[in-house]
Amino acid sequence: MGEYECIDCNAVFYLEEPPFDGSSLCDDCRTVIKFPQLSEVDMEFEYFEREQKIIRDQAALIKIHLKDPLEYP
Ligand SMILES: [Zn+2]
Repeated sequence: MGEYECIDCNAVFYLEEPPFDGSSLCDDCRTVIKFPQLSEVDMEFEYFEREQKIIRDQAALIKIHLKDPLEYP
């Protein structure tokens, strides 16, 4: 039990026990770490994943069209 200073925002907070993972982080900063914002790289990967799906769907439609042009003009 004791007083800790957050290594991220310098806020002073209290804990019954030493931090379970050894890093003194206040609850707010732990929340940020648990739910991190998507970095730009992650967002790019998300974008590519979406694009990939669109391309796959298009390719499937083209295949259907080639097989049976009258049914799906
Ligand atoms: Zn903090």
